[in-house]
Amino acid sequence: MLNNLVGIGPKTLKALNKLNINSREELFSYYPYRFDIIKRSNIELLNQDDKVIIDGIVESIPTIFFYSKKFNKMDFMLNTGNNVYKVIIFNRAFLKQKINIGTNITIIGKYDKKHNTLVASDIKLSLLPSYTVIEPIYHVNKSITSKELNRLIVSNLENVVFNEYIPKYLIDRYKLIDKVSSIKEIHNPTSSTNLNKAINYLKYEELFLFMLKINYLKSKRIDNYGLERNVDRKLVIDFINNLPFKLTDDQLKSIKDIYKDLTSKKRMNRLLQGDVGSGKTIVAVLALYINYLSNYQGALMAPTEILAEQHYNNLINLYKDTNIKVELLTGKMKVSEKKKIYKRLINNEIDILIGTHALFSDDVIYNNLGLVITDEQHRFGVNQRTSLKNKGITPDILYLSATPIPRTYAITLYGDMDISSIHTRPNGRKEIITILKKNKEIKDVLDLMYQELKQKHQIYVIAPLIEDNDTDMENVYQLKEKMDRAFSKICVTEVLHGKMSSKEKDEVMEKYKNNEISILISTTVIEVGVDVKNATMIVIFDSYRFGLSQLHQLRGRVGRNELQSYCVLISDQEAERLHVLTKTSDGFKVSEEDFKLRGSGDLFGTRQSGDMQFKLADIKRDFSILLRAKEDSKEVLSSKEYVNNKKNNILDMLDKSMDIS
Ligand code: ADP
Ligand code: MG
Repeated sequence: MLNNLVGIGPKTLKALNKLNINSREELFSYYPYRFDIIKRSNIELLNQDDKVIIDGIVESIPTIFFYSKKFNKMDFMLNTGNNVYKVIIFNRAFLKQKINIGTNITIIGKYDKKHNTLVASDIKLSLLPSYTVIEPIYHVNKSITSKELNRLIVSNLENVVFNEYIPKYLIDRYKLIDKVSSIKEIHNPTSSTNLNKAINYLKYEELFLFMLKINYLKSKRIDNYGLERNVDRKLVIDFINNLPFKLTDDQLKSIKDIYKDLTSKKRMNRLLQGDVGSGKTIVAVLALYINYLSNYQGALMAPTEILAEQHYNNLINLYKDTNIKVELLTGKMKVSEKKKIYKRLINNEIDILIGTHALFSDDVIYNNLGLVITDEQHRFGVNQRTSLKNKGITPDILYLSATPIPRTYAITLYGDMDISSIHTRPNGRKEIITILKKNKEIKDVLDLMYQELKQKHQIYVIAPLIEDNDTDMENVYQLKEKMDRAFSKICVTEVLHGKMSSKEKDEVMEKYKNNEISILISTTVIEVGVDVKNATMIVIFDSYRFGLSQLHQLRGRVGRNELQSYCVLISDQEAERLHVLTKTSDGFKVSEEDFKLRGSGDLFGTRQSGDMQFKLADIKRDFSILLRAKEDSKEVLSSKEYVNNKKNNILDMLDKSMDIS
């Protein structure tokens, strides 16, 4: 527990919790995000509050002032050869005996130029001239400083023990330092060489555990036989031939992949990735149809109620010539209605149930669930497979993702899944016209908006912030005022953001869908696959704040019918990066560029959230370590000696940390 540690009172505890540090492990693995390297300074070149390391000779006897028993301040004069400075240091009264007139010392601290003073954080006697200080800098908030956090961690590191997950032979193979030393070094760097070794160890550990997890899931899955099915292929082909449109090649290929999975003994665990609007839903519809033909129930899980309803209407329409019974389960429904559904579900009177994660709450019991499809899978919390496992069922699983990533990365990051990709969009859609604008060109943007509003089209306006937080960035409420000033005579505007309750959000979205609102001013909460066909324009303020893939996702909110749609990116910065979006509308290309420009950036969102929150590793920059970790983890899992070792807790750890279903 945190409160057993040295120096953590209620106030600090609260500050730590705010940083999402709730346990010892989380404290020690709260790594610095950068390091300041401070060398011997030439004080003439320094500015107010710059960090300094400087040598000098003590010129006056230190005077000490005690504020209390623990808190004191010492000051004395220091001659650096060029000048004489006052030195202040807090709570080091015990150094007084060592600081005599004429002593050579080195001051590490901050330069208060205005007062000709050096505020020391440390004073060293006889230091080598090559000495540098590496100062870890942490992401913190107002309630604790980076320095305080560092002191807290370091003062508690003395006797801690850590689980060493990497097998000894791999540590030897790569000549890694051990875990304790790595953690100590990263919080209290002794030299850049040692620090690099520490970072290397910790990155490798993160990626090794990640790949171990993926490969473990994969190996489990091979042992895990799925459902056997007997499906009349002809019925599937008939269904396809009767669709209102012709499927694209990639859609057909994906359906074939899924058909094969479902009719084989192997349990399906497949990811279907394709851009927004590439037509993943119809593939899901066919998967559910195949599942239905083999007499199993299916579940389609959407991240929001609006999306669930959208799917419901869509499916009802597409299955209208069949006997499939589709139902919708939402949180809004009355308990009595829900109970009816539960009853029919267990009696096998429902073939396909659509809803949010409520589909897997305790009350919901399926008769014979054969297939689970989750849409926009990254929107779900980690481990929803747990709830399936708890029900003792092992259905086939299909994930739909609208955040496509390049294949090289996909096969590693999603190594436990099979992958189908849809690259081409169905024909007949106009390309969305993407335009880059500067803030000073806002008038042009308003003109464009006016043109669309005149035709009774709807618009999304996106801001990076909800409310003012003393930055130059636009926020939702400020933009609403702006929009009202320009358009209140001709249309209704409304705001939508993450601090609203889901009921409020749904109400606003519902109004927008019904065209009772013309301009929706929102944060990125609208990112998920809402389909408002009449929306033809999205205007994104301060777009430099977003990743390319995220902007691409947002852009996908428009262009949903035959009308020409527009995406306007407003930004005074990073025009070159944003330019990528004006050139391509292919999500795979966008994410490739995102990789090149920002490292893994948006990728963090793509796997089930928690899985890929690496602290130090960066998928792109450290891809070679990842590949090595992939091979090493396979080797470990195939080593009988290692896997059967009772004392080794790694597989237990994996079992505990994951849902293995
Ligand atoms: P997403 O991949 O974003 O989930 P959808 O499945 O919602 O995309 O498809 C977007 C739109 O394209 C839907 O209106 C759907 O009916 C339509 N669509 C899907 N496949 C085709 C196709 N092969 N030809 C024409 N329209 C299609
Ligand atoms: Mg979709």
